[in-house]
Amino acid sequence: QEVEPEKAAAAPRAEPAVKISNPDRVIFPESGQTKGQLAAYYEQIAPIMLPFAGNRPISLVRCPQGRARKCFFQKHDSGSFGENVHQVPIQEKDGGTEDYLYVNDTAGLLQCVQMGTIEFHGWGARADAVEKPDRIIIDLDPDEGLDFADVKQAAKDIRTRLAELGLTTFAMLSGGKGVHVIAPLTPGHDWATHKDFARRFAEALALAEPDRFLATMSKAKRKGKIFIDWLRNQRGATAVVPYSARARAGAPVAAPVAWNELDQFDRASVFTIADGAKLLTRSRSKALAGWGFAEQSLPDL
Ligand code: ATP
Ligand code: MN
Ligand code: MN
Repeated sequence: QEVEPEKAAAAPRAEPAVKISNPDRVIFPESGQTKGQLAAYYEQIAPIMLPFAGNRPISLVRCPQGRARKCFFQKHDSGSFGENVHQVPIQEKDGGTEDYLYVNDTAGLLQCVQMGTIEFHGWGARADAVEKPDRIIIDLDPDEGLDFADVKQAAKDIRTRLAELGLTTFAMLSGGKGVHVIAPLTPGHDWATHKDFARRFAEALALAEPDRFLATMSKAKRKGKIFIDWLRNQRGATAVVPYSARARAGAPVAAPVAWNELDQFDRASVFTIADGAKLLTRSRSKALAGWGFAEQSLPDL
């Protein structure tokens, strides 16, 4: 018997994996998007987000009443999110142990959204090897007044510097103000080595071009410059995960971009949770094939 294509497409889908309560609650008041729309974005994007967000200790930016109300950064939980949000015990500096969160599947992401999560931030190591980092992130944090063109040029220059050290890197629009330059690494070195590499790399940039870069967090000294935030590379630090939404006006997302298309973007928040389909298509494009993956080791510096 024939099924009209329209009717087939409209047939009810399989039971949703996670029940989202209050799907009509507005989470992004400036652009009007709801909790249901945020959940739909994550469900759609999960297949390309999970390779980066999955199997990695994560911290969450939760804003249960929406991004304009109280938000908090959550690192620990012992099981209140649901059965698809898992725990990995990690040793704290004081010698004690805390349960960190990780997810492996769409349902895990959605259980976090159900609990009011907007942003997902990941450790620089896998949940099953937390003492062996697997990436370096150079987080470019521009002074507020700086032109985005300067941020893009800085990212490209940092790409060149890291390429000279033998590292393939990838660019990501943070969804906020800056760009992240990411070098995936085969785990091997410890945190101290990673932190030392990132600090020395940032300090060398600041020393070579003090008018463009600084390697210290000071906002007062940042005037017209870019802070090379190397601190993303120490044990326990996190960085926003590719494709995570941001708790900022307009519902922007952290978006992978190819080096040869970086010039065409005029800000770090061009993609939003309304662009799920576009991001999926982009991820399959030739320019973004293999984005975020390389087999390489941390070089000496
Ligand atoms: P932008 O491009 O606007 O800088 P970003 O994601 O790089 O966006 P940063 O402020 O540079 O934002 O990075 C701060 C990082 O610190 C975040 O990626 C997050 O992992 C971490 N972080 C954010 N809030 C907290 C918090 N309350 N406690 C601990 N770590 C946090
Ligand atoms: Mn940043
Ligand atoms: Mn930063």
